[in-house]
Amino acid sequence: MPHEVMKDIYLIRVPLPGNPLKNLNSYLIKGAERSLLIDTGFNIDACHEALVEGIDALGVSLDDLDIFLTHVHSDHTGLIGRLKTGKNRIFISSTDLLVLDRFRSTLRWKEIEEQSLSFGFSEEEITENRKTNPFKNYLPPQDLKIETIEEGFIFRIAGYSLVAISTPGHTPGHMVLYDEAHGLLIAGDHIIFDISPNITRWPELPDSLGDYLKSLDKIYKLHVTTTLSAHRNPMGDIRDRITELKEHHMLRLDEALEIIKAEPGMTTYEIASRMSWSIRAKNWTEFPLTQKWFAVGEAGAHIDHLIQKGLIEEYEENGKKKYM
Ligand SMILES: [Zn+2]
Repeated sequence: MPHEVMKDIYLIRVPLPGNPLKNLNSYLIKGAERSLLIDTGFNIDACHEALVEGIDALGVSLDDLDIFLTHVHSDHTGLIGRLKTGKNRIFISSTDLLVLDRFRSTLRWKEIEEQSLSFGFSEEEITENRKTNPFKNYLPPQDLKIETIEEGFIFRIAGYSLVAISTPGHTPGHMVLYDEAHGLLIAGDHIIFDISPNITRWPELPDSLGDYLKSLDKIYKLHVTTTLSAHRNPMGDIRDRITELKEHHMLRLDEALEIIKAEPGMTTYEIASRMSWSIRAKNWTEFPLTQKWFAVGEAGAHIDHLIQKGLIEEYEENGKKKYM
């Protein structure tokens, strides 16, 4: 059953089976005429059933329910194809719509696979990932009319005025919604309380971690009393959490720098294998492949930030990118 977290704002927990994130927190803001849903779940039956059950329990018809997507990831966007009726509207940032369009093209996946080779993945791992990557397989269908918004766009609903704010980092076009009068922030994956949001390499962002850290500073300045985030425990003290997240990344940057300086000439994959990860596996070889993928992406984002800061250099050798 949906749970009212603030007046007229309901949390619907959508399970993400087999995914370490466990669930997506979808929010439904119930207005007198139109309502707004924020984020949806993967394009799979288990997510669809839980979400629709929640929407039904609130007595909201899909025709009257517009949808805002905080970002492109398929655990947020996956179900829009099943929720679109022809009478409701779907919104996302223009930047992440471009990313979504690229994700849906086979060219993008070829490009990602070529990059993954240069990061140090083996051909076998790349072939295996093609079959199992949830972000690839649970995306919404093409040919859907999705409207784009820019920073400053305001959703007015149920007495709330929710302003869209760009918070690039987790994805290139990630957006949060902020209502100053109510001290409310709908944070998407920008700020999560129980786990640190995944920061990875993006072809669109030369320094995604640098962007993420700037976006954290941007949100720190706001007057937020209630934060609603998209995974796990939805609420907490946002300034404390921002400070923790920044410290976490500083430690990771130090760790990556130390590893690179101790043994120059490694690929991102090799550097990632030497970093510490909070995952229950004996060693790097036993990491499940999807976790390796996240780890290499995350290590890469830290490496890119070290390059931007002038602390290390990148060079290429036999098609592999290496660092010193
Ligand atoms: Zn995400």
